Formats: sequence, structure tokens, C-alpha cells
Amino acid sequence: MILHLVIPCYNEQEVLETTADALQKKFEKLISDKKISDKSRIVFVDDGSKDDTWSIIEKLHEKDPVFSGIKLSRNRGHQNALLAGLMTVKESCDAAISLDADLQDNIDAIDEMIDKYKEGCDIVYGVRSARKTDTFFKRFTAESFYKILSKMGVEVTYNHADYRLMSKRALEKLSEFKEVNLFLRGIVPMIGFRSDKVYYERQKRMAGESKYPLKKMLAFAFEGVTSLSIKPIRFITFLGIGIFTVSIIMLIYFLIRHFTGGTIHGWTSLAVSVWAIGGLQLLSIGVIGEYIGKIYLETKHRPKYIIEEYLSDNDNDNADHNK
Ligand code: UDP
Ligand code: MG
Repeated sequence: MILHLVIPCYNEQEVLETTADALQKKFEKLISDKKISDKSRIVFVDDGSKDDTWSIIEKLHEKDPVFSGIKLSRNRGHQNALLAGLMTVKESCDAAISLDADLQDNIDAIDEMIDKYKEGCDIVYGVRSARKTDTFFKRFTAESFYKILSKMGVEVTYNHADYRLMSKRALEKLSEFKEVNLFLRGIVPMIGFRSDKVYYERQKRMAGESKYPLKKMLAFAFEGVTSLSIKPIRFITFLGIGIFTVSIIMLIYFLIRHFTGGTIHGWTSLAVSVWAIGGLQLLSIGVIGEYIGKIYLETKHRPKYIIEEYLSDNDNDNADHNK
């Protein structure tokens, strides 16, 4: 089988060479064990890095054709970079594994992924069984992320990031999902087919720093929920119904008080409720606006990524226009 590894890289000059080294060794082993064909490739996707990432990729490609590279025209974020890579390689491989450049996800799980693929699975999810080396904060925020998502109605595999194997068939189906607001973890399970999980322990980042600080993680979670679930809108509808019911009950109560002679003094309760309802209305409009914003973006059908350069030794890959 021809296996392609797809690795999005954004400003990864500190780790890239170590990563390439480790992956090259892994590939040599897999090829000599006849688990994968020697046409297999390690594909780095440069997500518009501002450092030397691309020149390192070019050098690697020159040294050994097992490495190939895709350069995006600008930074488009992890998810888009990943999709760009997967869509570019899907014609020339039987299966592709997506992986982070910092190798925090144990590459020994690749063997098991290949085994599961050979048993007939189209999608194999890499699942983090332990996060011993992550800081408490990272672990807590990351695990809450999965919990909140599933509460919000997004079907995700718990503790699975974007480390997964997908067969050619699954990749082809993935290409039919046309959404611009991309949250791959939520979309891949919708493809269906036979799938399985592989467990591994997550390690520390070798060098460089995380490109996913808290702010980005929150934005990512929000993206996940609003791209895949309409539960928040429904929640607002129920909230509206609830508040309206309460106000009707209050109205009846105050009318009874009025006719039985009790006077309502003070406008505190009135002022409070005006503010409360005003706030809720703004919140609701905000959430609805969020979805309308998404619809707006989707209707534009903008390209999700633009490939500037493709380094590949494969003759039927055509995008290498610099040569
Ligand atoms: N990444 C990317 N584009 C971005 C941000 C990140 O391609 O805009 C890549 C990054 O190079 C890495 C992967 O996404 O290969 C995951 O990022 P990171 O390891 O920083 O995230 P963490 O593991 O801390 O969640
Ligand atoms: Mg990482």
C-alpha cells in the first residue's frame, strides 16, 4: 500500500529537521518490513510560515524524494492546511495519515493504524490515552473542549485530535463536503465507513511553542459548535419561551395583586427585568448573527486554500510549475 503522511507546519523551523529524521527512520523500517510501498511519501504542508520552514522543506526534498512539500500562499490555519495536504495527495496514495509537526502524537501508532487499514477500516482515529506530560491547564482546557462539544451536539471522538488514517475512498468522500467553515474532527465521523481507534500516549512538544494558545482553542471550540450544531440557536428559542412564560405568570400575579388592593412599590423589580431581558435579547441576536455570518461566508464559496508550490517527484502530479 502507498501511504502518505500529511504534516501541516506553521513556523516549525525548530522541530522540522528532528521530525523529518524520525519519520524517515520510521518509513525505512515500514518499507523494509514490506508494510508500505516505497512510493510512500512524507508530505509537509507549509501553512504560510514566516520563518525558514519552507526552505527546510525544499532542502529535505532535494536530499531525499521521500519528502515532498506543499506551500500555501498564506497562513490559513491548521485545519485548512491539513485539508490542502489531504486533497493534494489523495490521488497518489491508498491511505493518508495526518500528523502534527511537533510529533507530540506517538508515531509508533502508525503501525497499528496500517494494520487496522489492512483489516478493512477506512478511518482509524488516533486517541490520546494519557496526557501525563501536558500541563494541568492544557489538559483541563483540552478535555473540557471535548466535553463541551459533545454537550453542544457535535459528534467528536473523545481525546482524538487530527491524528488519523483515512483511506483513499474516505478522502474522496471528504472532498465532497463543501463547507468553508472547517472543523475536520466533526466532519470525518459523518463520512461513515468502517472505523476503529488506536490508543497512544501524548508526549511533550520537542521544541518551539504551541501554536494553539487558549485564545485560539476557544475560537476553535466556538467554530466547532457553530459549524456543526444548531443547538445554541434552539437553546435561545427555549430560553425565549421560558422567559415569556415567566412574564405571563408575573403579569397574572401582579393583576391579582392589583385587584385585591396590594400595591406594587418600587421600580427595582421593573428595572432589573428590563435589563435582564435586554441583555438576553442582545445575547440571542449575537448568536443568531454568528450563524448568519457563517451562512454569509458559506455562500461566497471562497477557496479554502491556495497552493503556491508543490514539490513532488511524481510525474502525474502537475503543480510543480517552478521547474
Ligand atoms: N499549525 C498550522 N497552522 C497554524 C497553526 C498551527 O499548520 O496556523 C500546525 C502546527 O505547525 C502543528 C499543528 O498545526 O503541526 C498543531 O499545532 P500545535 O502543535 O502548536 O498545537 P498543540 O499541539 O499545542 O495543540
Ligand atoms: Mg502540538
